[in-house]
Amino acid sequence: MPEGPEIHRAANKVRKALEGKVIEGIEITLPRYSDKTSDFLGKTVQKVEARGKAMLIHFDSFVMYSHNQLYGRWTVNLKDTPAKKWNRSLRIALTTDTHACRLWSATDILMMEPWELSGHPYLEKLGPDVVIPETTVADLVVHMNQKKFQRRRLKSLLLDQGFFAGIGNYLRSEILFTSNLHPERTISSLNEKEKNTLAQQALFLSRQSYEVPGITVDLELYEQLRSLGQSRGRSRHWVFTRDDSPCHRCGELILHTRPGKRRLDYCPQCQPAHS
Ligand SMILES: [Zn+2]
Repeated sequence: MPEGPEIHRAANKVRKALEGKVIEGIEITLPRYSDKTSDFLGKTVQKVEARGKAMLIHFDSFVMYSHNQLYGRWTVNLKDTPAKKWNRSLRIALTTDTHACRLWSATDILMMEPWELSGHPYLEKLGPDVVIPETTVADLVVHMNQKKFQRRRLKSLLLDQGFFAGIGNYLRSEILFTSNLHPERTISSLNEKEKNTLAQQALFLSRQSYEVPGITVDLELYEQLRSLGQSRGRSRHWVFTRDDSPCHRCGELILHTRPGKRRLDYCPQCQPAHS
């Protein structure tokens, strides 16, 4: 499932192809918007941005909102390259004089007036975005100190987009590991140093995973594992999907849990239940 780093990378590709460009071709397969082609044709894309796991494409008079949920994907091609043949359904294709940007399989797509953005149920509740460079450690610490988060456990809080926006399954496990925090800990049980570490690691790992796609371990360790013949998938995380393998830091076996039916892996030695 795409997480913040993946959405921001997708937004970059779409931004390069669309920002400042005029839409010359449009295909919409969503029944509720099938009569809206003239809203797009001849219009200039003002801005493309990611917010949490959503993408916003701003035109003069409206904004196209999309959230990829589990299956949605963007592809960006040169205009004359045929569309990819795969088992996904095309939802919308935006074509400029040079490129075609296609959104596949997403179901959560909305055309909104700019003023509606602030009241949108997903956008409105988003916490600070961990991928954008404007977010600081201090921002995250101030945000986590709010009363409503104090009794929540890290395992559920880290998937809540109202806490830190952009974190999903793999980042949750990885951030808890590099912060040395047990998934059952609550915010109120953290001391100041632990809060700072959690904030720093949330930013550091999300940004590394954005810059170096999907890799959360130290890059030196990654290269070392790859040179030993480990696959990319087996080399890129500290704990996520590494259950029953030895911890890279202490050698203890990584444990697997599924709170809320979503994978969470951790090291019982590096992440003790009590500080
Ligand atoms: Zn360990």
